[in-house]
Amino acid sequence: MKAMVFSRNGGPEVLEEAELPTPTIGDGEVLLEVKACGLNHLDLWARAGLPFSIPMPHVGGCEATGVVAEVGKGVTGIGPGARVLIAPGLCCRHCWWCLHDEDPRCAEYRVAGLHTQGGFAEYTKADAHDCIPISPTWSFAEWSAVPLTFLTAWHMLFHHARLAPGDDVLVQAAGSGVGTAAIQVARLVGARVFATAGSDAKLRQAQELGAHHVVNYREQNFADEILRLTDRRGVDVVVEHVGADVWRDSLKSLAKGGRLVTCGATSGPEVSLDLRFFFTRELTVTGSYMGTRSELLEVLRHVERRELQPVVDRVFPLSELRAAQEYMHDRRQFGKIVLEPDWSK
Ligand SMILES: [Zn+2]
Repeated sequence: MKAMVFSRNGGPEVLEEAELPTPTIGDGEVLLEVKACGLNHLDLWARAGLPFSIPMPHVGGCEATGVVAEVGKGVTGIGPGARVLIAPGLCCRHCWWCLHDEDPRCAEYRVAGLHTQGGFAEYTKADAHDCIPISPTWSFAEWSAVPLTFLTAWHMLFHHARLAPGDDVLVQAAGSGVGTAAIQVARLVGARVFATAGSDAKLRQAQELGAHHVVNYREQNFADEILRLTDRRGVDVVVEHVGADVWRDSLKSLAKGGRLVTCGATSGPEVSLDLRFFFTRELTVTGSYMGTRSELLEVLRHVERRELQPVVDRVFPLSELRAAQEYMHDRRQFGKIVLEPDWSK
């Protein structure tokens, strides 16, 4: 089969088209003919070099959807021809954390397509347990814009930030995949949504998705604007993955008792904290990583009902994965970038 691969841990590494053996499946496993796969910052980080080793040559792609081509012995309830997505978070399913619905803390937790071979190929494989049926309500490309992205936003807002109806929430980088998901998830429970982006076009799109107030961070200090819009109170929750560039002003935007939840560090990983400001205002800062399987099922239920909608900015042919990654690196997208295998079968 054809795949887009890079071949060395510790990058930066060149992505290239390669001919690999089609995965062979064992008992309980499923071979999937990939129809689409979402792109994530994780894919860019993996290629730039990770602090741990991953299988080489590496096939990235954490949000694969497609059609089941073959099932291994012992697989029930799913067969050839079924439309499925691969759950992005893989865990042992029996440890203390897994049984307490805290899968991302499992010692064996892995991200599909990061720690395993992913969906940037003609075929990929997964445990049947990790294959979730999807309906024709959305196209494969649209479904591929959902799993990791919405799961991350859901886990941040509910599990960690305990978002409640009536809360004010600030979503940083509204044009990112997680940003477009967080706006919708926050609207779903009746929160008031503030969103930042760096262009007026993205701000308009954020408003169309449901943001009540938008701020162009290139033209205004967003913290000042948030404080003005909330009568100096600040917001209850900040959803954040930009990191160093916005850290200080994100904290400044919080109301007393506010919660900042972060899942990334795109602009840099090192930040500082004035503890006096932090404890006197009773702030909470929480890290968030992926989400649980039960949350994924909740997300998919809302997507199925069209209460949450995939936001696909652009679909690239998989052979143009490099260009797609550059497009993401330059932050040109609003929503998700999705790849579709374009090699003839
Ligand atoms: Zn576990």
